[in-house]
Amino acid sequence: MPARIIDGRALAKAMRGGFVTRIEALGAEGVTPGLAVLLIGDDPASAVYVGRKVKACAAVGIASFTERLPASISNAELLGRIVELNADPAIHGILVQLPLPAHIDMARVLETISADKDVDGFHLYNVGGLVTGTTVFSPCTPYGVVKLLEYENIPIEGQNVVVVGASNIVGKPMALMLMARDATVSICHAKTRDLAQYTILADILVVAAGVPRLIVPQMIKHGAVVIDVGINRLPDGSITGDVDFEGVSQKASAITPVPGGVGPMTVTMLLDNTIRSAERAHALHRH
Ligand code: NAP
Repeated sequence: MPARIIDGRALAKAMRGGFVTRIEALGAEGVTPGLAVLLIGDDPASAVYVGRKVKACAAVGIASFTERLPASISNAELLGRIVELNADPAIHGILVQLPLPAHIDMARVLETISADKDVDGFHLYNVGGLVTGTTVFSPCTPYGVVKLLEYENIPIEGQNVVVVGASNIVGKPMALMLMARDATVSICHAKTRDLAQYTILADILVVAAGVPRLIVPQMIKHGAVVIDVGINRLPDGSITGDVDFEGVSQKASAITPVPGGVGPMTVTMLLDNTIRSAERAHALHRH
């Protein structure tokens, strides 16, 4: 039987409906969630991503403020601007669009953003919190994957999970978040010997490598849940994930499509983090 298709667009839409209610409740208390987006330089892909985030904010009622800064900006100027935004009560989330120009010290940028406004979840405090269970904001893409699994009533506890990809923004936090939910997790990366030896054991396989067709049917177990985080542009301009969707969907029990699976959830979780930040700030202000 072909796999059930996990519809990320449907869950994103349902969650965004709930956000409107939360934003109205904040509005009644005189609070509008505010997101500052810093776009440095003129990378066209970054401009597209920022455009999507701004549009998604507007659709639910989050005030977003995009600041386009020149690629030539100095570290000191950029850090200074972040410090100002940290102190601005109208701003609940600060997002610095990655990648940054080579001369910018990314680690310092991410650590300068207040952990309380770090809606991307990249600050060391929030990264460390993934290990200890005290994170304020989880990184949006893996957080979206967890929400998809919950929405589909896919059990995580005690399951064998294999995460293919070990980046700081997807693979590693994904593994930690699933471990925190009592899965048994293996992490694979480019130097893993015999990837299939691991993937075949997975009850839940999460793939975030950025390699088209990396996962083919022989590599998965019958009935596995397959989450494809990959977004790859093919020479013909089409978008594809890391999984051979046609083949794998004949063997998996559930699978995310690309596009329409994990992608819509990433921006949705950014909205969730921003609203939650406004709710936290308001609750602190009241006490
Ligand atoms: P990244 O920083 O390039 O990391 C890729 C990871 O995959 C690395 O850990 C790398 O291993 C591993 N890898 C590469 N080739 C591999 C192979 N042949 N076998 C096993 N592992 C391999 O990428 P990323 O930022 O994590 O993104 C991964 C993919 O997800 C990309 O396609 C990206 O566009 C997509 N993405 C999607 C969303 C979304 O919203 N859907 C969000 C973010 C990213 P090493 O560590 O050994 O180099």
